[in-house]
Amino acid sequence: MKLTEILYQNICSLSFEVFPPKADAAFESVKAAVEEIARLKPAFMSVTYGAGGGTSEYTLRIAEEIKERYTVPTLAHLTCVSSTKETVAEKIAAIKAAGIENIMALRGDIPPELAGTDRSGWAYHHAIDLIRELKESGADFCIGGACYPEIHVESTDQREDIRYLKEKTDAGCDFLTTQMFFDNNLFYNFLYKIREAGITVPIIPGIMPITNARQLARAIHLSGSFVPQRFKALVDRFGADDRAMMQAGIAYATDQIIDLYANGITNVHVYSMNKPEVAAGIQRNLSAILGK
Ligand code: FAD
Repeated sequence: MKLTEILYQNICSLSFEVFPPKADAAFESVKAAVEEIARLKPAFMSVTYGAGGGTSEYTLRIAEEIKERYTVPTLAHLTCVSSTKETVAEKIAAIKAAGIENIMALRGDIPPELAGTDRSGWAYHHAIDLIRELKESGADFCIGGACYPEIHVESTDQREDIRYLKEKTDAGCDFLTTQMFFDNNLFYNFLYKIREAGITVPIIPGIMPITNARQLARAIHLSGSFVPQRFKALVDRFGADDRAMMQAGIAYATDQIIDLYANGITNVHVYSMNKPEVAAGIQRNLSAILGK
């Protein structure tokens, strides 16, 4: 099923993101966690793509498993930067052959060791290059793209970031999913600006439940997200107690999601980080709202 069939429905729903294992040894445990999350029957599940493509075969295997065994619509992530045209074409063909209809088309992070090097000869520079290629391939995917309410870490100017985002949606992005944020007002402000810029596709807010203090430090390092005082106080108070922090983190994410629904958002994507107890905890908190 194409995600656009879900995203235009006026029904509150949740979707979950999982990530593939980095090595064979972890495959079975990741698969078990993913299956538990799939049993919650979310609106869809996304499977990330390892930076640099190292775990790409697992992305597809896990996405296929979710779709075939649990009949949950799946979104396979694909990054293009530092890949060749041939590699990307092979990946696209494999996703299509697996019957997966949704691709999250991403640039990916520039590998740190290549950051200062001459990239003029690279086949892909930005996500838009991959989106154009997907459209030109005629493969009829529903295509997602990433967006950043607090601007992308490499950008210095939000207007420029939004101008590139508009080009990305004009090139064929059917929906956008946001980077995590902990202050909904930043998201509402961003939504206003992108609608004003003429971006009309559905925007899926991405919510990261923080369930331990170390995870927060890592999340901020990667995303540069602003942490409101209210959330800092919560981590200061409960961060040293894993069970308490898990409960508080789930409650904070639930609160953000309820506020998003109350303000007219229908689908919220939860970065569930392969933690079934987190996905289930949030879904339980929202059971009446979700009709589950
Ligand atoms: P782009 O859209 O190419 O944007 C990157 C930067 O380039 C921005 O600063 C933008 O303003 C600028 N830009 C865009 N177009 C142009 C242009 N034409 N000319 C000049 N500048 C331009 N990473 C993974 O490795 N695997 C994943 O599975 C994954 N999933 C993600 C899911 C979501 C929802 C999000 C938000 C991020 C995800 N990432 C993932 C991280 C992502 O790969 C990085 O944030 C990456 O640095 C940017 O990817 P992008 O697709 O947003 O790039």
